[in-house]
Amino acid sequence: MQKAAVLSKLKEYPQVRELEDEPLRDNEVLIEQSETGICYRDILTMEGFLPRVVLPMVPGHEISGTVKRVGSAVTQFKEGDRVASLIYVPCGTCEYCTSGRENLCRNKRTFGESMNGAYRKYLNVPEISLVKVPSGVSPEAAAISACVTGMVVQALEVVGGLRAGQTALITGAGGGVGSHAVQIAKALGARVIGETSSEWKKEGIQKVGADSVVSGQDFSKKVKEISGDGVDVALETVGSPTFNDAFRSLKYGGRLVVIGNVDVNPVSLPLGNLILKGNTIAGSVSSTKATMNKALKLSKEGKIAPVVGRVFSIDDVAEAYKAMKNRELFGKAFIKF
Ligand SMILES: [Zn+2]
Ligand SMILES: [Zn+2]
Repeated sequence: MQKAAVLSKLKEYPQVRELEDEPLRDNEVLIEQSETGICYRDILTMEGFLPRVVLPMVPGHEISGTVKRVGSAVTQFKEGDRVASLIYVPCGTCEYCTSGRENLCRNKRTFGESMNGAYRKYLNVPEISLVKVPSGVSPEAAAISACVTGMVVQALEVVGGLRAGQTALITGAGGGVGSHAVQIAKALGARVIGETSSEWKKEGIQKVGADSVVSGQDFSKKVKEISGDGVDVALETVGSPTFNDAFRSLKYGGRLVVIGNVDVNPVSLPLGNLILKGNTIAGSVSSTKATMNKALKLSKEGKIAPVVGRVFSIDDVAEAYKAMKNRELFGKAFIKF
């Protein structure tokens, strides 16, 4: 038995209760976590915006820790290894899984949605979801290597094609995702403009490495002033509230990559501008093991570091969700076990 936060009903906060241990399957690894990240996606899950949610369920998908035991069919990991997990279990056999694009697997199951997730100290994870964490990477950096830093590498480098010498715009740059996206864009050699709707976050965004920070209505005008003719890549971590300005911030041939959808409202798009400027708009989802490994490498090299907004106990999940919804945190919320 162990303590876990459990989501029993949509639109109600997860509650802490005792949870039975699950038997370790042959292909699984038992992991002991020291902390896990709390994600805006967990709030959207609670609010009922994600499909395929099976209740009751332990939320959370930012999994990492130390291997305590391995199932009889596990070949790549042993007791004592430090590991981090994808936020999902890929099928391993479809066209996406066999071409290094397991983030698009249609058969994947996601932790904290269609099965029990990370809001507990001990959990079993199939080997297929795991990567090794190199020495010198902090537990917090490992915890966010799938959902935050690996996801941002996927969006900026793989989907957005961001290269050294280019300019990147990060919307929501003071958030749990944005504060790390600023660092990753810098680590990839870009000039970085951060956007925030919270004046008090501006200084922090510069501290994590942004060359400039913009805010307010019509921020695309300021982006154009700073960048000359617009940005090569805009990373949309917010969604509809900032989408149109992020789009207008693109230069000719620029690419807008969408990873955030905080209020799930649709957007309208000026197709004439899209065509005439030759812009690309792409969605990007989660990370692959390759982009997790890249994120862990950047952490090991000291090029990126976790921005810890606040650390909560498992009894205070509701308080954490409220703080995130009210944008009280700069950086990422964690649960410490
Ligand atoms: Zn997450
Ligand atoms: Zn697959």
